[in-house]
Amino acid sequence: MRIILLGPPGAGKGTQAARLAQGQKLAHISTGDMLRAEVSGGTELGKLAKNYMDRGDLVPDEVIIGMIQGRLKDGSGVILDGFPRTIAQAQALDKALTVAGTRVDRVVYFKVENEELVKRLSGRATCSGCQSPYNLSTAPPKKPGVCDRCGGKLAQRPDDQPDAVRRRLMVYEEQTAPVLDYYRKTGKVKEINAVGALDEVYGRLAAAVK
Ligand code: AMP
Repeated sequence: MRIILLGPPGAGKGTQAARLAQGQKLAHISTGDMLRAEVSGGTELGKLAKNYMDRGDLVPDEVIIGMIQGRLKDGSGVILDGFPRTIAQAQALDKALTVAGTRVDRVVYFKVENEELVKRLSGRATCSGCQSPYNLSTAPPKKPGVCDRCGGKLAQRPDDQPDAVRRRLMVYEEQTAPVLDYYRKTGKVKEINAVGALDEVYGRLAAAVK
């Protein structure tokens, strides 16, 4: 299966995608994770992308499409998380999958209100050691700034700062929301309520891709 998880930043796509990938034995492709790996590796692509990412803007389509194309070539089962984010990316995906003799099977839209997204994103922190997720306002660690599990230091993403969060939500409305309409026309979209306990949301996601 080729599944797209679509929804605003902070909707929980990454966490649920990782779990679904394990459950369904599918590859998990997150363009955000791929870009952050380029940034921490100090590559040319990473240097270019960082400026856009830190501001909360999208990285240009040609960069993203070039980066992901190789991973779509064989048409095997995949969960796409954070891609496509523009109509041009959706069209490029369709083209790449057609060449590979396959297509998108299901698009799951994660629905969360804006107020909740701001709360989630601005409190989001991750352990720099074991990558455990925290929320400084709703699920803080026992000792401030320190991971309960491994004692590692907690870090916040530069694009989770208030100005960048506002910009990301605006960019989502302008550039990514139209992608939902693009797929609605194909009848492949299932909408889930992405607010609730992780297990509850996972149950809704698993039902939506059945
Ligand atoms: P994410 O981890 O999915 O929230 O992505 C973090 C940032 O990476 C975004 O705010 C964008 O700057 C960039 N990014 C990730 N995926 C894409 C994409 N498909 N198109 C353009 N920019 C992207």
